Amino acid sequence: MKDRIHSIQTCTKDHGPGLRYLLIMQGCPMRCKSCHHPDSRKISEGRDITVEEIIEDVTTYLPFLQASGGGVTVSGGEALLHTKFLNKLFGELKKLGVHTAIDTAGSCYTKSDFFLRQLNQLLSKTDLVLLNLKQINPLKHKALTGITNRHILEFAEHLAEQHVPVWIRHELISGISDQDEDLILLSEFIHSLRNVEKVEVVPYRNGNLLGGISQDMKTPTVARITNAEQILNYEII
Ligand code: SF4
Repeated sequence: MKDRIHSIQTCTKDHGPGLRYLLIMQGCPMRCKSCHHPDSRKISEGRDITVEEIIEDVTTYLPFLQASGGGVTVSGGEALLHTKFLNKLFGELKKLGVHTAIDTAGSCYTKSDFFLRQLNQLLSKTDLVLLNLKQINPLKHKALTGITNRHILEFAEHLAEQHVPVWIRHELISGISDQDEDLILLSEFIHSLRNVEKVEVVPYRNGNLLGGISQDMKTPTVARITNAEQILNYEII
């Protein structure tokens, strides 16, 4: 089975525990103004790769990944556009005893029977979901990403119902996603979930201008980063 990827990073940090083999899938329905990988958004671009090719490559790095307590993370683009492919891939990785993680914004979540069947199969082979919640306010979310967020919050609730361990990531952009009223609502939502192990504040970094659309985006100050960390601070379960 083959599917379309943007790229591979063979040994990274910051995408789950330990060292990670990071697979960046091609295609994303969102249009975030802060996008770090705008060239991963068009599904028609990228290159095809098979599950067998990935497994062969991952096997080369397994001693490093496993010695560090790491594994494989699939990101994007939007990883969950590729649930059928990931089901096959994670099935093979689990045979090798590899820790599996999905880094997602949850933007293609629907309650259709077809999608939920594929998703739940995949979640049964997934050790960790890194869930990017970009804005709790639906109008501000739409202004930032091009879509509203109700289904993304429902995805977070679905992960809680399925008892999937989750790390929440919130990108902090000055004047866009660092306002106290939004952070407080986001914190309340996160605290309503029972499966969140960690909350990470990810400060936006200037210079992500590959798509030429990020001119309004500004790095938050240290004081605003500390403030967000205090509001979102989560007592780990
Ligand atoms: S979710 Fe947003 S930041 Fe991530 S790839 Fe899609 S457009 Fe870019």
